[in-house]
Amino acid sequence: MDVRIIVETTFENGTTKTRRLGRLSRPFRSTQPEGFGLLLEDAKSVLWQLQQAILLDQIEEVSEASRVCPDCNKVRTIHDYRSRVLDTLFGRFRVKVPRIRRCACNAKSEVTLGGPLSPLARFFPDRSTPELQRLQAELGARHSFREAARIMEIFLPCAKQANTSVRNRLGKIAKEIGDSEYAEPVVSSAEKNATPMTVFLDGAHIRCRPEYQKRHLDVVVGKIESAQMSRRFGLVQQAAQSPSRQVRQDLQDTGWDGESPVTVISDGEPALPNLVRYAVGGPVRHILDWWHISMRVKHVENAVRGLLQTKSFSGIPVLFERPAERLRWYLWHGKVRVGTTSLQWLMTDCERLCKDDPEVRDAATRVQARCRELYTYLANNMDSLTDYGRRYRNGLPISSSRAESCVDDIGNTRMGKRRRMRWSPKGAHHVAIVRAAVLDGRLTSTYHRAAA
Ligand SMILES: [Zn+2]
Repeated sequence: MDVRIIVETTFENGTTKTRRLGRLSRPFRSTQPEGFGLLLEDAKSVLWQLQQAILLDQIEEVSEASRVCPDCNKVRTIHDYRSRVLDTLFGRFRVKVPRIRRCACNAKSEVTLGGPLSPLARFFPDRSTPELQRLQAELGARHSFREAARIMEIFLPCAKQANTSVRNRLGKIAKEIGDSEYAEPVVSSAEKNATPMTVFLDGAHIRCRPEYQKRHLDVVVGKIESAQMSRRFGLVQQAAQSPSRQVRQDLQDTGWDGESPVTVISDGEPALPNLVRYAVGGPVRHILDWWHISMRVKHVENAVRGLLQTKSFSGIPVLFERPAERLRWYLWHGKVRVGTTSLQWLMTDCERLCKDDPEVRDAATRVQARCRELYTYLANNMDSLTDYGRRYRNGLPISSSRAESCVDDIGNTRMGKRRRMRWSPKGAHHVAIVRAAVLDGRLTSTYHRAAA
């Protein structure tokens, strides 16, 4: 059989135009399993031709319509044609677009007329369609730039993709996201009520390119949550123009009214809550992640268990068992003073055992070391401890685990050490921004809104 593809365009003025886009041949006698239906290569060629047909017709329609002078309704003359290259998802086309002479009806003299008009210039300021740019950015955020270019070439009749142009597009989209082009529709101030915001923060470490004189780069990743919304974010502090402004923008896009309380949950790294403090420009409640405390308590518990199991243990077991058991309970309920006191008792009791035989001494030293670790950790973060039990019962978050999933999603999956790529601060910053937007579905939702 033969399949003919014909496109019929009906212009707004009622005229129609028919184009033949070629044909497919499927002779049944020689049909192979490979020849059933439309093949990828056929589809790519059909799409390319269809795109060309639609583009040419659209350019024709828009140029014709813009020749009519809005003041006197006369048809203006065409000055000349300019050749323009237009990049789309479905091919790169060189098109001829007209420039139109200005009408003299409204001008006092020839001098005030100005140069010819380019009615189509505003449609492709970057010589490429926004959809192409977004797809390049999205694929570049999901895969390596080289891989992204390859995927596009496999499925689309687009022009040859260079990994550098994918990278540049991603950078451009990252800037647009920074300029808030992809912000959610702004909530009107009446709808904004004082919802408390929670920011979960963590850091991902990625390899740095050698010319930056250091081994690793820190990508700050996190999640902002209010009662209604949540959004991920990622940034590299030294590449961001103003990291705190970016976080502030993200807070506002999530519905923050500029006043309602902001809580930050992170591990003991002081730079992270400070970033949010600068963004908020006021007091921020910082809460130390419970999981990081719990893990250190676990180390103490294990060390005590090891000590009690030594053969020649000569102390009174309950003196060690009790504080180790109670420690977690004290910290969970925010009784930090009692908790640290029991830590000190544990350390003192271990001190006495250090005169015993080597096995006990080693185990006791281990308990002391674990206790000291926890003690220092608590002492350094004293202001960030809270009654975790009460928060938990009230349904409030106590752990930054939601930021930890962002570490994987935004940082490690695309830029992790196992991928053996090295990054410049700026490159990593752009990928972090676009990846966060892609994972939130912000890139595509804007597109659907724009198309609707
Ligand atoms: Zn006119």
